[in-house]
Amino acid sequence: MTITPRRLDIRSLHPQSRAVHAGTERSQFGETSEALFLTQGYVYPDAATCAARFEGNDPGYIYSRFSNPTVSMLEKRIAALEGAESARATATGMAAVTTALMGLVGAGDHVVSASRLFGSCRYVVEEFLPRFGVASTLVEGADLDVWRRALRPNTKAFFLESPTNPTLDVYDIAAIAAIAREAGIKFIVDNVFATPLLQSPLQLGADVVVYSATKHIDGQGRCLGGLIVTSDKIIQDHYHTILRQTGPAISPFNAWVMLKGLETLSVRVERQTANATELADRLASHDKLKRILYPYRADHPQYELARRQMRAGGTLVGLELKGGRADAFRFLDALNLIAISNNLGDAKSLITHPSTTTHQRFSPQARQEMGISEAYVRLSVGLEHVDDLFADIDGALGAA
Ligand SMILES: *Cc1c(COP(=O)(O)O)cnc(C)c1O
Repeated sequence: MTITPRRLDIRSLHPQSRAVHAGTERSQFGETSEALFLTQGYVYPDAATCAARFEGNDPGYIYSRFSNPTVSMLEKRIAALEGAESARATATGMAAVTTALMGLVGAGDHVVSASRLFGSCRYVVEEFLPRFGVASTLVEGADLDVWRRALRPNTKAFFLESPTNPTLDVYDIAAIAAIAREAGIKFIVDNVFATPLLQSPLQLGADVVVYSATKHIDGQGRCLGGLIVTSDKIIQDHYHTILRQTGPAISPFNAWVMLKGLETLSVRVERQTANATELADRLASHDKLKRILYPYRADHPQYELARRQMRAGGTLVGLELKGGRADAFRFLDALNLIAISNNLGDAKSLITHPSTTTHQRFSPQARQEMGISEAYVRLSVGLEHVDDLFADIDGALGAA
């Protein structure tokens, strides 16, 4: 296998070019598209080579639970895109989040996390980790001091999403990274909403970035996948053995779909972000809406921070209707183009009512603390023409 482009330092290229080329390895056939290695295992020329490979003294693949050429191309591509040394792919975003956290802690340790999280992320922090003797503290992450005050001698990690799912809160990654560094602990950022193109947490000082590749990286609603992006040392010290022995591996087929997704990520995210920006502006003064949430609008609570930390506002817009659940449901049911779905990052525009879906298992009080009202909907803006999207939303708001 040969690595292409051959005489090019991939790190000298812009992210858009890395997303197309980084990590590509070609077989002896010189195929244009990345080869799909649908194989569980590998064969060896002789027993001594096999033994050497298991000892780590012969480079090469052993078993697709922990290494596969197609998966490894995806890992190299996302690492290059993120400017990181290393990455590991997993079966889902939640497998990446769970491994990223569990790999850093053991019984008796403590984790601090922002309280505003995707429902499953909050489950892992709040309920799953404590089952194994790992305490967790949830904080209102916009206040920097709460991170410092939540530290204990046994704290091992900070965790957050920014912008958050679904309320689009933006946290100061550089400032929280400084607190983590001072305390000698690791800092994990779930960068799903920002995408690798619009925010680079590792450059802001985070130690580990996680993705649900299911979202913008596939971007066409086909496969589940997750990614952990970090340094060689953190992979070796905390993740390599856990991934190898517990096996939350991505299928090579899904990894191949994600490689194809990364090739078009920049054009999709750029267009979806342009659509989202325009929709947020056009809807901001709509008389059926109480407020619009979009990180790059001046009326967003963390507008200045979003401008500093993100390269654009992203593909998601929060809409808070006037009224309650019945008004939100009437609005959703009156949409004709935008589909009701709990997914996001898709080429198709999708809309979600978080309080009855992704966050339905929380108490009304917990939802209120997370900023999720019954009249709040999360819009994932797709690739349709913005005039068609506006007409659909405006018409449905009229019916609501
Ligand atoms: C969807 C999502 C996840 C989980 O990803 P899956 O691929 O669905 O497992 C984690 N974090 C955030 C912010 C998400 O939006």
